[in-house]
Amino acid sequence: MLIIPYGKQHITDADIKAVVETLQSDYLTQGPKVAAFEKAFADYVGAKYAVAVANGTAALHLCTLALGVNEESRVITTPITFVASANCVHYCGGTVEFADINPATALLDIEKVRQLLESKPKGYYSGIIPVDFAGNPVNMEELRALADAHGLWIIEDACHAPGGFFYDSKGQKQICGNGQYADLAIFSFHPVKHIATGEGGMVTTNDEQLYKKLLQLRTHGITREPDLMQENHGGWYMEMQELGYNYRIPDMLCALGISQLQRAETGLARRKGIAKIYDEAFKEVEGIEILSTNPAAMGAQGDKGHAYHLYVIRVQDRKGTYDFLRQHQIFAQVHYIPVHTMPYYRSLGHSKGAFPEAEQYYAHCLSLPMYPSLTQEEQAFVIQKVKEFVGK
Ligand SMILES: *Cc1c(COP(=O)(O)O)cnc(C)c1O
Repeated sequence: MLIIPYGKQHITDADIKAVVETLQSDYLTQGPKVAAFEKAFADYVGAKYAVAVANGTAALHLCTLALGVNEESRVITTPITFVASANCVHYCGGTVEFADINPATALLDIEKVRQLLESKPKGYYSGIIPVDFAGNPVNMEELRALADAHGLWIIEDACHAPGGFFYDSKGQKQICGNGQYADLAIFSFHPVKHIATGEGGMVTTNDEQLYKKLLQLRTHGITREPDLMQENHGGWYMEMQELGYNYRIPDMLCALGISQLQRAETGLARRKGIAKIYDEAFKEVEGIEILSTNPAAMGAQGDKGHAYHLYVIRVQDRKGTYDFLRQHQIFAQVHYIPVHTMPYYRSLGHSKGAFPEAEQYYAHCLSLPMYPSLTQEEQAFVIQKVKEFVGK
């Protein structure tokens, strides 16, 4: 029998053609596809600038570097995220603190963040890394107001939410990663994400200074721009001005990304369609709870800014449900084990029990199959098996 995973890439003949053409071109890396992918992605999310990088984790690291995170920095993030959202602070020697989630949405609870900020003198914290978890957009306008009141920068981890949006207080649509409120936003192109390049990532921003800094840090801290150099010895001359990395993404992957991006809206519509069918199937079922969409992401016309990277249900016997689905070749997943309970984070002084909502959420959550090529029959089978186990 066929395996049904929780997420999966979708590769077409056009994608393959784009990669092959790039392989046959003059540039495998540092060529024209990189800038073309950046331009297409910036346009897609409505940001001024985009910087394509090796993966989403590299994108996060470049952001913390560009914002000057160091040993003095204290940064707040959510415990319900992939570990990379927190690790990027430690890469620069900073300290991570967590704030608990809102149990209805599993997003960072802005009230909890406010309490944490108000419990310390101003200047104690330097930034905040919210995550558009599962594709459910954080109300970035609200978070920006809080961040401004405390002098914080914001890195929006939008890995789950390309094409997601919320409505601001003026009723304007604000697309995740559009640079309107967050200083920087990051995306990943890992195969389970909306746009797949194998490995790949992107930073978006409206801030020209940060943009230039990211470009330099992505390639060893080297610049070739005459205006930025202290000396100039001739055509070969370049300067390494700060310690950077090689976080570049090759042209073949950018060509794949450009090709994938052309189907982004179709894929997103499919994800929303799949979510609607799950919603309908589970809404009256006792023992199955679904996550709420952030009210800010609900449009007056019934449109929804949730990008549905994941479709999460909560069940009493999560391990039982997981194992039962697996027996039927349905590979549901758990997102996420709370970051503060990981041995590395415990070794830094974080402890189990510190964030009860996150831990309670983790005890019951299960991500069901969600990807554009999931067929109606496959989804019906998943629903049938979930109901069969929960109804027992
Ligand atoms: C996937 C993901 C990342 C990391 O992206 P990679 O491309 O795998 O390095 C970071 N944060 C979140 C929330 C993610 O889902």
